Amino acid sequence: MNAGALCARHYETGAPVRLSWENGILTGLGACPSAESDLWVAPALCDLQVNGFAGIDFQKDGLTTENLLSAVRQLRAAGCTRFFLTLITAPWDHLRHRLSHLQNLRRQSTELQAAISGWHIEGPFLSPEPGFHGAHNPAWMCDPAPHHLRQLREITAPDPVLITLAPERPGALDAIALAVSLGFTVNLGHTNAAIEILRQAMAAGATGFTHLGNGCPRDLDRHDNILWRVFELPQLQVSLIPDRIHISPALFRLMHRAIDADHIHYVSDAMSAAGAFAESPVPPVKPRRFTLGNLEVEVGLDQIVRQPGKTNFAGSALRPIDGVFRAAQMLNCPWQETWKRFSDQPARYVGLPAGMQTGQRADFCLLRVDHRHACQELRIFVEGVEYSQTGDRKDS
Ligand SMILES: [Zn+2]
Repeated sequence: MNAGALCARHYETGAPVRLSWENGILTGLGACPSAESDLWVAPALCDLQVNGFAGIDFQKDGLTTENLLSAVRQLRAAGCTRFFLTLITAPWDHLRHRLSHLQNLRRQSTELQAAISGWHIEGPFLSPEPGFHGAHNPAWMCDPAPHHLRQLREITAPDPVLITLAPERPGALDAIALAVSLGFTVNLGHTNAAIEILRQAMAAGATGFTHLGNGCPRDLDRHDNILWRVFELPQLQVSLIPDRIHISPALFRLMHRAIDADHIHYVSDAMSAAGAFAESPVPPVKPRRFTLGNLEVEVGLDQIVRQPGKTNFAGSALRPIDGVFRAAQMLNCPWQETWKRFSDQPARYVGLPAGMQTGQRADFCLLRVDHRHACQELRIFVEGVEYSQTGDRKDS
């Protein structure tokens, strides 16, 4: 029987707690007389935007169960036990078949079901404007129609789905209302919509904004641009990529001042290069090429992902655990403050269980953090079972 207990400091309160579980479910979280001062327990990370990981590109056709398991295990080793598998803009039928194929693989594996909590469909209903389309191919974009959303629901039911769309596209406002009625969460993103359209999109049911500060041109009008417009819409739940590259540290800090802390969560927007570098025994000496769908992208020595010869970013090479600590460094705040924005807050936003409560799945991280706020040890538990950094069960 899978059962156990441990004492560590709760990441939010700092108080020693005793966590116990049975058959994969948390059965208790109560006070404990003492715990080691540098040992912390925190909910496992939850990433709502993952395009690929550890050399596996989710935009590729013909992926196998082994491919997906390999990415899932490396994500888990990076502290993330639940994520939304993200598909980006592709010709619609292509995207649909890709999603069906991935869903079929997932249905055949309990390990994949536990890790892939839902789907993020980012495109093809995005802005084709230069700079706003990012790495998405404008030629494959289209206006959202009811049959698109119904097809998505048919393939994914009953899983949670997050859609990112640009509300200025014809038909988008009706599509948002339909998407919400089908149970989807709708984010705005890769958009240059006017503030009135953004407000109408929210009235239709859109609740979030995807990777603010990205999916827009480097140079923006100082008087009126998509950042300022979103800052004026405090009800939106905003995702940010905390890799220190997609958003400069200064802008990252300003965003945390302009937006309520409860309305920010982090995503990696990771593509296949993420985690692949970590496996390399020696640091790379020259840029490496990976794929993001049909795009060939280059990951430089700075770990920035670009299309060769272009300046815009194309996904990140960020591991979720590194995102928590980089965010804390940029904000000059304790890691405990940024941890929840990469765990409970995104989970709550899409309706997944959150908060390390009894009765929930016993997924958590056990960390040792030194006095310089660097993570020295990370242990991952999924349904009460500890997994090693190579993805194997550590049944005792
Ligand atoms: Zn994007």
